[in-house]
Amino acid sequence: MIINLISDTVTKPTPEMLQVMMEAKVGDDVFNADPTVNELQDKVAKLFGMEAALFFPSGTMANQTAIKLHTQPGDKLFCDKWAHVYNYEGGGAAFNAGVTCKLIDGNRGMFTAKQLQEVVAGRADIHVPYSRLVCIENTTNKGGGACWDFEELKKVQKVAKENELAFHLDGARLFNALVAKNETPKQYGELFDTISVCLSKGLGAPIGSILVGSKEHIAKAFRIRKLLGGAMRQVGYLAAAAIYALDNHVERLAEDHKKAKEIGEVLVEQSYVKKVEPIETNIVIFYVNDNIDPMDFIAKMESKNILMISMGEGKLRIVTHLDYTDEMHSKLLQELKNYN
Ligand SMILES: *Cc1c(COP(=O)(O)O)cnc(C)c1O
Repeated sequence: MIINLISDTVTKPTPEMLQVMMEAKVGDDVFNADPTVNELQDKVAKLFGMEAALFFPSGTMANQTAIKLHTQPGDKLFCDKWAHVYNYEGGGAAFNAGVTCKLIDGNRGMFTAKQLQEVVAGRADIHVPYSRLVCIENTTNKGGGACWDFEELKKVQKVAKENELAFHLDGARLFNALVAKNETPKQYGELFDTISVCLSKGLGAPIGSILVGSKEHIAKAFRIRKLLGGAMRQVGYLAAAAIYALDNHVERLAEDHKKAKEIGEVLVEQSYVKKVEPIETNIVIFYVNDNIDPMDFIAKMESKNILMISMGEGKLRIVTHLDYTDEMHSKLLQELKNYN
């Protein structure tokens, strides 16, 4: 038994999901003629109370498309210093959209309206790139699955609006935040211009992300997705998996959160653990004592068939997910207690 906790992207389709994929009605989606993709897009747009949605092969492409559609080359976007759009998309903001990122020194991947206010100042100066876009991440990945306070998000949106900045949400794990905080997709649809959501993480679909926004934004996104090479053909097989995931795998995210918290409770008690970050959703970030090399810790765990990853700066990351069973959970907790 291999206990793979490197990410919630490692899940495989369940037999029920595979069944609906097998039975999906498909067509050529480049001509908007795949009925299952259209059904998924309509479903997600409605869920968020937004006008339109577009299916993507990856969350990176959905975010990159959003950045491109809100900006012109030479513009600037604002994001947290730990943001996925800046750190983990291969420099795509610079390559695809030609924009620079102004990083905000937030806390666990989240900044405040006041911090945004401070950095947007001085935008009339010709030395300074045009400010166009604010990118938020919820939950934060490098921030350990932390959830934004919705009231703070409203304040950030107000600053964005006053400064004529577009507002994009990298909601790769938004459903984890919705479940953890008892929030609704519509609340987010009202606040943001565009939202990307990964279907292939906690929700358990094999592939795919979706971008929601206004008709105008999604029409632009449709062209950009094509130029990025992301327009696919009979992709309804994947859309069917996504529809199944949205119908069946949202509420159960609470189980992943519960297991993550239990892992944290065990880690905190171990003498080899220096610190465990607060756990709100399905990501556990912790640090081992200075006398232990984090890579050695990972290797030792791997020898027991337990896989986790390093996020740099001494951070070790465990992510719980759909394929992480109760049996695996007991074994992991035992191994964490046994390690010395
Ligand atoms: C996973 C992730 C993405 C998208 O990643 P893909 O692997 O391209 O689907 C975007 N943002 C965050 C915060 C993520 O965790």
